[in-house]
Amino acid sequence: MNIHEYQAKEILRAQGVPIPPGEVATTPEQAEAIAKKFGTTVVVKAQVHAGGRGKAGGVKLARTPAEARDIAGKILGMQIKGLTVLRVLVTPAEEIASEAYVGVILDRASKAPVFMVSPAGGIDIEEVAAKTPEKIRRLRVDTRYGLQTYQAMELGFFLYADLKQARAAASIMQKLYAAFMASGASLAEINPLVVTPKGEVVALDAKMVIDDNELDRRPAIAALRDESAEAPSEVEARNASLTFIKLDGNVGCVVNGAGLAMATMDLVKYYGGDPANFLDIGGSSNPDKVVAALRIITADQNVKAILFNIFGGITRTDDVANGIVTATRANPLKVPIVIRLTGTNEDIAVKILKENGFSASADMDEAVKQAVALAKGGKAA
Ligand code: GDP
Ligand code: MN
Repeated sequence: MNIHEYQAKEILRAQGVPIPPGEVATTPEQAEAIAKKFGTTVVVKAQVHAGGRGKAGGVKLARTPAEARDIAGKILGMQIKGLTVLRVLVTPAEEIASEAYVGVILDRASKAPVFMVSPAGGIDIEEVAAKTPEKIRRLRVDTRYGLQTYQAMELGFFLYADLKQARAAASIMQKLYAAFMASGASLAEINPLVVTPKGEVVALDAKMVIDDNELDRRPAIAALRDESAEAPSEVEARNASLTFIKLDGNVGCVVNGAGLAMATMDLVKYYGGDPANFLDIGGSSNPDKVVAALRIITADQNVKAILFNIFGGITRTDDVANGIVTATRANPLKVPIVIRLTGTNEDIAVKILKENGFSASADMDEAVKQAVALAKGGKAA
């Protein structure tokens, strides 16, 4: 789950990370009032679940309350990476002497939290990693001991030569680590971590991603979810207990089981196509899940063909067939559909589908080839 900058900042502030105050506005007038209250130059910042807001024009300085209002008027409603800005954070502007990057991620390869820090902050850390990897320092944390002070100091000195600043950064990293662990995060980063002309070290931006599997036992964190900031398809999928990830291709895939879903996507690619999504309808699929899955996939304008790939183990393929019939009766399909199913109650499923004008095959390669051809506007092979 993604959370907004202002929410991540609240979490980090609670751990004691120095962060300038800030308030959220949903209208230009609110932004003006907040700027007036702070009484200084402010930064108006788009609150969307996307990085690179600065480059996209979603982070702007405002010298007066009137300017804050005008800028908020421009940023609110703006699209950044396909997401509409519904809120802005208004925060007193800091003067910046230098910008650094500090982040911790849950690294699968290390099976542990790994810190990544760089004195070249502010910009894309991916770019720094690609062009000047020597400017990045990594450190694996042993979760039995946490980020020890000597380790944090080592990272601090990689960022700053000045002892006081290195100490300040080390303390911030230990707090960042505490917030990361306490929130069930898979990523927590501060970019930029800045030094002001007075030599103070403060966090001006914060990003956290929470592991969905950690939410059940953390209701306060789960409550930070902002559905209005998420892709509607992902919201609907979550509410229907489907595992769904939208992708850029045009073959809509409905599959049961994560392994088969991955294999299906691989095969779509292998035959020259592009999957429009990853979608796992799960083990014991009732027809309702299939209906929801079809609704989500057909709402995607990119989808030019739909591919069902179902292996009936616990899943009854006749349940899936019934779901397909129910869903398409309510909402006739505008794109071709290819159905591959095999396993439990296959005979019944094929009968149901045939009676309703669908065809089904048991051959996965053939089905994928057909779906790819249909998505390209060709005839089924
Ligand atoms: P991002 O582009 O989405 O990562 O948004 P950031 O919050 O990191 O802002 C982008 C850039 O705007 C930062 O790297 C800074 O250079 C600048 N910026 C953000 N806050 C301030 C501030 O308080 N004062 C000044 N002078 N610049 C800021
Ligand atoms: Mn940033």
